[in-house]
Amino acid sequence: MSELLRVENLKKYFKTPKGLLHAVDDVSFSIEKGETLGVVGESGCGKSTLGRCIIHLLEPTDGKVFFEGENITNISGARLKESRKDMQMIFQDPFSSINPRMTVKSIIEEPMVIHKIHNGDKAKQGKAVLEIMETVGLAERLADSYPHELDGGRRQRIGIARALALEPKFIVCDEPVSALDVSIQAQILNLMQDLQEQRGLTYIFITHDLSVVKHISDNICVMYLGTLVEKCTSDKLFEKQFHPYTQALLSAIPIAKANIKRERILLKGEITSPINPAPGCRFAPRCLYAKTECFNRQPELKELEPGHFVACHLY
Ligand code: SF4
Repeated sequence: MSELLRVENLKKYFKTPKGLLHAVDDVSFSIEKGETLGVVGESGCGKSTLGRCIIHLLEPTDGKVFFEGENITNISGARLKESRKDMQMIFQDPFSSINPRMTVKSIIEEPMVIHKIHNGDKAKQGKAVLEIMETVGLAERLADSYPHELDGGRRQRIGIARALALEPKFIVCDEPVSALDVSIQAQILNLMQDLQEQRGLTYIFITHDLSVVKHISDNICVMYLGTLVEKCTSDKLFEKQFHPYTQALLSAIPIAKANIKRERILLKGEITSPINPAPGCRFAPRCLYAKTECFNRQPELKELEPGHFVACHLY
């Protein structure tokens, strides 16, 4: 495998009347071709902002993004439009940004029209739409339906089909199954894994639910209030967690085996404000192990075991 995407010291701050909101603060990682990186954390931790910065839906405040070795941080105009063919996004609610009066067919077709994929050949375009619909498990008879006529699982299949329309190499999946029933979640996750195998896709899979990314991710990054607190392979993370926040997240996942009990760690204390955050560890007000140093100095990400990085003063 070779590297597809690299993010270096990415920052995204928003100006607010009270000060600078640090949504993403100095986040670095890389992803190999064909790999899935899970990005996990509570809502508001900056994971969606991170995904949007990577694919240029938001402009980063600082840092760099490399795609296939090219620095794409500041691309614009024709190069930015070209990059949309390689990088796409699947949203939790794919229709929040789409005209609800569009049919399934026109939703999937739209990116092909914008990028002139079939040079205006309507027959070829129509055939391509039906092929993608079949790939994602949508019956041809639904082509002229409207999103509100379909259930949540089918609607998310349309979101996936639209993301696939330009045959991208890389997709940011932002909470793609959070709004779905558990049984439908499994179907969509299986579909995404099948598509990855068939098309060699690379994913960033953003979620607040660690159990969702367990099977789909090769590597996992845990984020807390804009910072990356732990990263390693999925297998390692579920075997051993170093960061107290990751331990708390894991403790909330039920264990299937009846004879194994895991004690749930309940987080107490105030969540630090991401606006002009204090210099220490952002998890300190909620951490069971916080010491004086934690309130004064932000911990750096250190490699505690080969490939296992943690930002915590305990180690
Ligand atoms: Fe807890 Fe301190 Fe580690 Fe932060 S650095 S997670 S406050 S022990």
